[in-house]
Amino acid sequence: MSTIALLPEVSQFIGRTQGLRINGREVMAEEAFAVLNPSTGGLLAQIAKAGAREVDLAVTSASQAFHHGPWTTMGPDARSRIIWRLADLMEERAAIFGQLDALDNGKPFAVARDVDAMWSARHFRYFAGWPDKIEGATIPVNIPDRLNYTLIKPVGVCGLITPWNYPLLMASWKLAPALAAGNTVVLKPSEETPLSVLYLADLALEAGLPPGVLNVIPGLGQEAGAALAAHPGIAKVGFTGSTRTGRAIVEASVGNLKRVSLELGGKAANILFADADLSRAIPGAFWANFGNNGQSCTAGSRLFVHADIHDQVVAGLSEIAAGLRVGPGMDDPAHDLGPVISEKQMRMILGHVDKAQMQGATCLTGGARAGDSGWFIPLTIIGGVTDEMTIAREEVFGPVLSVLRFTDDAEVLVRANSSDYGLAAGLWSQDVTRVRRMADALQAGTVWVNCWGETDAASPFGGVKQSGYGREMGRDAIALYSETKSVWIA
Ligand code: NAD
Repeated sequence: MSTIALLPEVSQFIGRTQGLRINGREVMAEEAFAVLNPSTGGLLAQIAKAGAREVDLAVTSASQAFHHGPWTTMGPDARSRIIWRLADLMEERAAIFGQLDALDNGKPFAVARDVDAMWSARHFRYFAGWPDKIEGATIPVNIPDRLNYTLIKPVGVCGLITPWNYPLLMASWKLAPALAAGNTVVLKPSEETPLSVLYLADLALEAGLPPGVLNVIPGLGQEAGAALAAHPGIAKVGFTGSTRTGRAIVEASVGNLKRVSLELGGKAANILFADADLSRAIPGAFWANFGNNGQSCTAGSRLFVHADIHDQVVAGLSEIAAGLRVGPGMDDPAHDLGPVISEKQMRMILGHVDKAQMQGATCLTGGARAGDSGWFIPLTIIGGVTDEMTIAREEVFGPVLSVLRFTDDAEVLVRANSSDYGLAAGLWSQDVTRVRRMADALQAGTVWVNCWGETDAASPFGGVKQSGYGREMGRDAIALYSETKSVWIA
């Protein structure tokens, strides 16, 4: 086992304190903060820390770019070409993005490069096609001699606030449609993982994005994030993160009634019926939860298994867990999964495992920290979980799967829906009538049938209930970053 050699661009990038990116320039702040490498627990990089003053500078820069810059007056074809060129550059530099996210987040380098970076590039590619298709309508109104039509306008300066689990991808989900719709942006990445988004800002300039259109201001949530969410110059906040922070953002928005869209937490139910094709359903259910080390808002963390196949499924899941290796993201050959993001998160996750056992569940695999350097938790499967246990109700956001037993379709539907969250749900069955009925009745923004976790830049994604509101991706995302103006001409 050796460590993958750092690309020269990556060594240089992390070898000096990275400034904020404001108005096309790198700007240092009064203070810097340390970003740690979750695979070692050691220092990875120093980053300038935005406070209220820097947030204000960035909003002013984005506002200038919105009101006076070429971005909002250039034709749609010119905007498309810049976004398309950015997608090209992201593909060309996917290995750099991959190394930055592997170091910063801990996920395996190959995953960070081939999934996070390449899907992010694909996202920009898809939205590059939108600027000349954002059309209004002519409306057949009843008042005589009147022409009524609609114009689809950008919202203005958008504040985008993103989490650490897919650092580049979550930023791309917001940034690509915001730019395609003609907005300017202040983006605050998670303080845990700011590197790849800072690099993206540099690439955007190289692609021809005018200065001030994209400003990136790493900083703490309570400081930079809160200041951005409350700022009167921000017209819209696009947020991905926890439900708790989502509430704080809604409260902060009331001052100027800024638009808010929220992609929040989840506690997805994944239902294995007795007629499922277990050769696909067992590995499918495993990765539904353990993909990205369980640090996914869509993690299928409540696995409902029909009593007739329960023991076979649990044995199959445990066998997969035993065959996988967890280790640093930059090791070669690659490990299957990396560390969790931080010591705080590790303690929170292990606290959930302990509490589940105190409440009567059984830890079937994993359950304790692995090693003493870095923040590693072996894949943990908890059996005998019942609906009222904390682990069945609260988001764990780590490599922990709860297995719950059921016997009847109507019963499992009620139990699956008895959650405050509603981001995703899924089922495994060969019975088309059952599939259709369940897909219709599960309370979730996305339902996966005989698959899990699939997304596409063209397909809407978002939550119901306390998983948030608004739909990202596809045409819905353009609507999320636009306002409709109605024009009447006499
Ligand atoms: P978090 O809510 O702690 O932080 C998210 C972002 O909000 C960070 O940039 C943080 O600095 C910022 N922030 C924190 N406090 C803030 C405040 N008071 N005002 C403004 N900004 C603030 O979430 P996290 O721990 O980074 O990410 C994990 C959470 O994100 C999980 O709950 C997960 O389910 C959710 N998530 C949801 C989706 C989705 O699409 N629905 C995707 C990924 C992650």
